[in-house]
Amino acid sequence: MPAVTAWQEVADRIWVRRYDPYDVNVTVVAGTDGAVLVDTRTSLAEAAEVREHLAALPIPPLSAIVLTHHHLDHCLGAGAFPGLPVWGTEGCRAALRSHGIEQRERWVADLPEDEAVDVRASPLVPPDHTVREQAELDLGDRRVVLCYLGRGHTDHDLVVHVPAAGTVLAGDLVEVGAPPDLEEAYPFAWPATLGRLEALGADTVVPGHGGPTGAAFVATQREELAHLAALCREALGGRRGPDAVLHASPFPAATTRLALARAAVTAA
Ligand SMILES: [Zn+2]
Repeated sequence: MPAVTAWQEVADRIWVRRYDPYDVNVTVVAGTDGAVLVDTRTSLAEAAEVREHLAALPIPPLSAIVLTHHHLDHCLGAGAFPGLPVWGTEGCRAALRSHGIEQRERWVADLPEDEAVDVRASPLVPPDHTVREQAELDLGDRRVVLCYLGRGHTDHDLVVHVPAAGTVLAGDLVEVGAPPDLEEAYPFAWPATLGRLEALGADTVVPGHGGPTGAAFVATQREELAHLAALCREALGGRRGPDAVLHASPFPAATTRLALARAAVTAA
């Protein structure tokens, strides 16, 4: 079943829409004086569709684009919104500048030609407004807090907190409907970063992929990632073999193998 959904208002004036491919979330946070779009899908063509869908929402004109991280399914549509400030972490800007083009080429290699043409034609847009630890966007009657809470899914995941709405947009730090993606992850740091996200006290959590969720799901994902990290620690210390790790892991084998590989290169 395709994941494409209508806009869903998950909290006061926060709308989420799920899109295929990748069941990726695009979120709009609106205030009286502006609105921000968080994540942009994978190409100019896909983002143009988002722009059309935005016309159905009772919101002021967009005032900013926010990118949760440098993975192209979240950020490669940003070029469809010229003239708007683009917010992201310093690490997101650095990653897009240093290996964005290479990432796009790798991405394109796995696509059918018609989709590859769209992706290749989509410019990389590194954030021109960056967050080191925290920044605030003023939307009139409410503020949106952009936070970097530590390493996890990548070394630069941005969390979007809307305190007045009790809502957090977690990017790929939280994943619903599929295992967390550890390809560029920090398995030992991720659980503590999720702990800091939980400490924001949000009732509504929008993951990077899959349906909106809440605090209990995040707690479970944190515990599973902590379990995985402990298994990786044992494997690195020679106290548990790879097969035993795969057997005990709360995640599928492919996810666990990625975690073991990343644990070996990111161990503190
Ligand atoms: Zn990602």
